Amino acid sequence: MSSIFKTIEHSCDFCVVGGGLAGTIAALAAARNGAKVVLIQDRPMLGGNSSSEIRMWVRGARGPYNRETGILSEFEEENIYRNPTLVPTLWDSVLFGKIKENKNITLLLNASCLDAQCDGNTIKSVTAWQLTTYTWQKVTAKYFADCSGDSVLAPLTGAKYRIGREGNDEFNETIGPKVADEKVMGMSILLQSRETDHPVPFIPPEWANVYEKDEDFAIIPYLKSQHSTFRNHTVGTNGCNLWWMELGGLGPAIENTEETRDELMKVAFGIWDHIKNREDHGFDNWELEWIGFLPGKRESVRYIGEHVLTQNDIAAGGNFDDIVAYGGWPMDDHSPKGFLANGEDDEPSGFYRAPSPYGIPYRSLFSGNIDNLFFAGRNISATHAALSSTRVMGTCSLLGQAMGTAAAICNQKNILPKQLKGDLIKILQQTLIYDGVFIPGIKREIPEKTKAANINISEEAREILLNGVERPRGDEEQNSVIIDKGDALIFNYASPVEIKELRIMFDPDYNRMSVSPNIKNRVFAQKLHTGLDFVPLKVPATIVKTFEVYADNKLVYSSDNNYHALARIPLGISACEFSIKFIDTWGSEKVTLFACELI
Ligand SMILES: Cc1cc2nc3c(=O)[nH]c(=O)nc-3n(C[C@H](O)[C@H](O)[C@H](O)COP(=O)(O)OP(=O)(O)OC[C@H]3O[C@@H](n4cnc5c(N)ncnc54)[C@H](O)[C@@H]3O)c2cc1C
Repeated sequence: MSSIFKTIEHSCDFCVVGGGLAGTIAALAAARNGAKVVLIQDRPMLGGNSSSEIRMWVRGARGPYNRETGILSEFEEENIYRNPTLVPTLWDSVLFGKIKENKNITLLLNASCLDAQCDGNTIKSVTAWQLTTYTWQKVTAKYFADCSGDSVLAPLTGAKYRIGREGNDEFNETIGPKVADEKVMGMSILLQSRETDHPVPFIPPEWANVYEKDEDFAIIPYLKSQHSTFRNHTVGTNGCNLWWMELGGLGPAIENTEETRDELMKVAFGIWDHIKNREDHGFDNWELEWIGFLPGKRESVRYIGEHVLTQNDIAAGGNFDDIVAYGGWPMDDHSPKGFLANGEDDEPSGFYRAPSPYGIPYRSLFSGNIDNLFFAGRNISATHAALSSTRVMGTCSLLGQAMGTAAAICNQKNILPKQLKGDLIKILQQTLIYDGVFIPGIKREIPEKTKAANINISEEAREILLNGVERPRGDEEQNSVIIDKGDALIFNYASPVEIKELRIMFDPDYNRMSVSPNIKNRVFAQKLHTGLDFVPLKVPATIVKTFEVYADNKLVYSSDNNYHALARIPLGISACEFSIKFIDTWGSEKVTLFACELI
């Protein structure tokens, strides 16, 4: 690019554009699996819609024990431990720290990707403008991933994409219009408030909208059966995050962002004015502590990959051979009119059941026509109807981890994304499970050295420990080994065996019952409106805090402050006996183990 400003050149295996949860996790997954990565993010912090700039809370698959594990869960565990009062910018710092501590990643913040250099169907490099340094940042790589949500690399590379809603006949779907259009789900800004012990007045700006009565937020009858039953404007620790302040869906999806933000500001200040000053809501002691100036986007541009995930795929449970991730949020299709959908003639928002969990295939995560382009997040190859479920951040995080891991495997094998198939899919699935991810229907292959050991538990317990499923299978069926605090699991061999690594899956308290009395904070450790009743979060009581590892009775490792569910301890030791003594938990009386392996 011809410019008086300097160009800084980077070269890597894998370049990720967009540092929302999908991109951040993709970068980390690839780097941890050996790829040299550059992550380009146009904001000052990582996290996208979950960041302190937007503050949307992470949701994922519904239902007990369906919580997403892997890197997302590691982030959340770090946040609960370091940020129990859930300060939004500390969440940013958790993501920042995880990326910065990985030596395989170069992080380019405040850098907006706006050009790509291609050779035929192959991307050679991308260029970003870094606004803090007034420099161009050019990144040459073997593989690229677009996690920008807006799919910036589509217009820049000629990758096939789609905007808006498919017509029902196209994929035989029932969600969405009969005839295709370019309408999308809208964007929102959020606000956050805090309860004090004294009255706090609020004077709205003169340009704020005025909403005199609760009826101004009334929802027409059809919505009552299909979506939220009312536009809930109850704040409070357990209140509503006002997600319904939504505009901009009528299109064009990206170009209208600034003007939509202006309108959203009028709506948001108007709603806070209503809550404080109109009708009697009882929020006199509440103050507005933050309002977002950056709209969070739900939908803009989706890529077309080798497979387009549809409403019917989801409804059928997503039983794909190349399943690499799962969703489980209902198909939650917002009316493009958003907040303005108040009249009888408006198109309805809809909340349609989806199985939880359902599978998502690898083939929806790379471009159908650009050879070295991956994607993950809200821009995957899915119809509008399918996106209405896959878009939640727990699911986007799993997609990011699957795609980043796939990129690392492609790099190791020197193959294109589309060549990762057959047995290589099994390697991808097993790598993901080893890294803590749950894939419905796929079991972990237990390492030979674990299978070869005598373990000091009953045959029945041994079968459970080595069954390759690392989470509860339902309330009734026991799928973990439970032992007393202070007891040890002892692995014995007839002759010395070299063990490279000890891998343990503790119980992360999948339903987060021990983390917070507040139901919202159990969903994910992020803050909503803070009432005086807010209680700081606690590390899951079920995680083992203190444990020791002995090889032939010699102490070789000890931890006195573990707060992660997945523990992987490098050993590199030969011995006949390995003993793991579980000394204390973060509160539970017993120790629960979903896996304990010697590798
Ligand atoms: C108001 C609202 C409510 C929602 N409610 C929920 C909810 O309750 N729970 C939930 O889980 N999900 C919710 N969602 C959906 C969810 O937030 C998104 O689907 C999700 O954030 C998508 O993740 P992502 O990583 O793909 O994209 P994003 O979070 O959008 O991140 C993409 C990142 O890429 C950056 N970027 C864009 N262009 C460029 C470029 N050219 N160069 C470099 N960087 C770039 C962006 O700044 C952004 O940080 C909601 C969304 C909105 C807007």
